Order: sequence, then C-alpha cells, then structure tokens
Amino acid sequence: MLYQRSSQLFAEAEKVIPGGVNSPVRAFKGVGGTPIFVKSAKGAYLFDEDGNRLIDYINSWGPMILGHAFQPVVDAVIEKAKKGTSFGIPTELETQIASLAISMVPNIDKIRFVNSGTEACMSSIRLARGFTKRDKIIKFAGCYHGHSDSFLIQAGSGLSTFGVPNSPGVTEGTAKDTLLANYNDIENVKAVFEANKNEIAAIIIEPVAGNMGCVPPNHHFLNDLRELCDENDTLLIFDEVMTGFRLAKGGVQELYNVKADIVCFGKVIGGGLPVGAFAARSEIMNYLAPIGPVYQAGTLSGNPLAMAAGLAMLEALNKDVTIFKRLDEKTAYLEIGIRKVLNENNIVFTINRVGSMISVHFDKKPVVDFQTAKNGDNETFKKFFHGLLQEGIYIAPSAYETWFISDALTYEDLDFTINAIQRVAKLL
Ligand SMILES: *Cc1c(COP(=O)(O)O)cnc(C)c1O
Repeated sequence: MLYQRSSQLFAEAEKVIPGGVNSPVRAFKGVGGTPIFVKSAKGAYLFDEDGNRLIDYINSWGPMILGHAFQPVVDAVIEKAKKGTSFGIPTELETQIASLAISMVPNIDKIRFVNSGTEACMSSIRLARGFTKRDKIIKFAGCYHGHSDSFLIQAGSGLSTFGVPNSPGVTEGTAKDTLLANYNDIENVKAVFEANKNEIAAIIIEPVAGNMGCVPPNHHFLNDLRELCDENDTLLIFDEVMTGFRLAKGGVQELYNVKADIVCFGKVIGGGLPVGAFAARSEIMNYLAPIGPVYQAGTLSGNPLAMAAGLAMLEALNKDVTIFKRLDEKTAYLEIGIRKVLNENNIVFTINRVGSMISVHFDKKPVVDFQTAKNGDNETFKKFFHGLLQEGIYIAPSAYETWFISDALTYEDLDFTINAIQRVAKLL
C-alpha cells in the first residue's frame, strides 16, 4: 500500500504544528516513518488520504468501542448541534448522562464531567488531597494518567519511591509529592507507606494497565491495595479512563469486584467527543465547589454535543447485555489466532489480554510491570507494525500500547488480520 499523500500532508503539518501532531505518539517516532492521515472512518475501517482502507485496532485509543461513525452517536450530535453548541448554562442532558453513568458503575453517587481524561485524573487527586488534607500520592511506574504535572514523574535514584520530573517544566516541588511504586508489587507499596506515614492522600492506579501494553493486576493485588488504603485512611483512585465502559458495564470495579473511592473516566464515556469525568460517593464529591472547598471548573464542561454523544454511547452499551461478552470472545479469537501463527513461525512473544484489550510483546518473559514491558524487542515490533500497515491493518505505532477491539470488527476482519500476521511473521 502507498502512503504518499499522507507523507506530503505530514510534511505540511510539520511546518505549523510541533512535530506535525497534536499528541506525540501519533507521530510514529516509536516505529519510524510518517503517520497516515485519515479522511474518514466507518465501522471497523479507516479510510486514509491515499484511498487505502485499513482495519482499525486502535479505535481512537479506545472510545470507538462500537466502531466508527456509530449511527446513534452521529444522529445525537447532529440533532444537538442544530440547537446550539455551547451555553455555559446547565442542561437536562447533563443530569441524564450522570444518572445513567451512576446506574452502570458500582460505588458512585455523584459524577462531574470534564473535557479529557487528563482533567479527570488531575481533578481527582486535587479532590483526594482536599478530602484527606494530605499532600502525597502514589502512582505506579508505567501507568499513565494524562499529562498533568503530578503524573509526569519518573523513578528517582535508589528506592523507586522518590519521584523526579521526567519532563522539563515540571518542578521538583511538584515531583516530591508523587511517590512511585512498582505495578503488581504489594511489598513495594507497603514500603512506600511505611516511609511516608500519614502523608499519603491517595493511590492512583490503572486497575488493568493499558499504557505499557496491557498488564493485568495479579490475583489479589487490587484487594491488597484496598486493604492498605483502608488501614491508612488513604483513598484508592481507579483511573478507568481506558477500562471504564469497556471491560464491563461497571468497569474494573465490577469485573474484579473491588471497590474504589474515586473513579476517573474518559475515552468511551464521550463516544468520541472530548469528555472526561470523575465520580465517587457523595461524601467525597460534596467536597467539590460550589458546595465544597475544592475548586474545579470548565467553560466547556458538560458541553451539549459531548454529552449527547456520551449519552448515546452509554445507552447503547447499557441496552445490550451481551456486548462485553461478545467483545471478549472476538478478542479471544484474535489472541488464539495470533498465538498460533507466531508460534508456527518460531517468533518469541508474550500476549497479554483482558477482555477487549490485548497487547503483543516480543519477549518471552511474562510482562507484569513497566520493567518487564520494557524488555520487549522494539526492532521486531517496528517490523511487525510496518508489515501490518502494508497489509492494511492499523495497530498503535508504539510497542507500549494496547490494541482496542471494537464490536464493529467481524470474524472475517479477524481472519483477514490473522492471515496477514501469518505473512508478516515470515518477515520478522
Ligand atoms: C488516555 C488516558 C488518560 C488521558 O486521557 P486524555 O483524554 O488523553 O487526557 C488518562 N488515563 C488513562 C488510563 C488513559 O488511558
């Protein structure tokens, strides 16, 4: 397949947009080459500026769980747009989507809508700090919670408990309040608590990690965190921006039957429009302005187009009780197919999967945390990525990203993909 016009468009974009993109991973830095430019998308397929059709395994990094241009979402947005696109005044629609989200997700009484997952996570830790009157938070290496300052932290020297900024512009003052721990390592988390007695406001975690490939929590890990939080009067924040309304109607809380204190949403909850949200029991949410002391606001928060899209998406997911099972079955089918062809070609690999999140790592050791995720062979991944692109299959342009399966994918699409991987495997 040719991607000539996309390359030209990228060259034009680079002149006026830093790196040619509005979010770094889109630029193909991890795999080489230049990004494809999308013209339109429908169902399981992307149509690019060169006239190629690609099967999409990213689905806008998750939101398009029912496929692109899903009709109820498109209709809802068009209808709303005719009636005005933003008011900065309350609408009934906000209550409707709030009520529906609360009915679908366990352990939440109130929810506030924002414009991105970043904003949701950023606001959730401010709320946790205000509520507990403590400053420090724990995050896990390899988990991504958006690009707000407190989360752009890497491991410091010695014990991986002391954070240093990993981007210029993040101050050391901010970094010192973010403590790092290793995913799936409860002893490590206990040591961090031990060293910071009565200082930790919250633990924030991707309860199924998806930003270092897909990394499931070990048996008991989430329950152990829950216990540790209860013992220390610390809040447990589940960042379900990726997993919420994807792994189950009620997200990971439902899937693994663990209770979080605050839950963050993004991606699917907006149906493809810019939406984030955070939610908790009333006691915590009532700490927010205008009834509580913790400030949080947004000119476009609860925007009618975004709320209409999100509501149409949640209604579709809420109505069809078989959807999460169907997604799991489709993804399992893909997993089995990929395992078979990679094994037949003697490729060294590990596949992680939870429901409709799946990642292929080119390393034979289990991938359980950031360290093991980094062991994957990036050269093999690059060949794999470009081989698939030539076959008309679009996966994330980075070895650290999960594939997001949409319900628009048919078993024919999956077979086509497995056959393509069979051909690509011979080139690895
Ligand atoms: C995507 C993502 C975010 C950030 O959401 P944005 O809408 O990109 O700001 C936060 N947390 C997780 C787990 C994510 O996957």
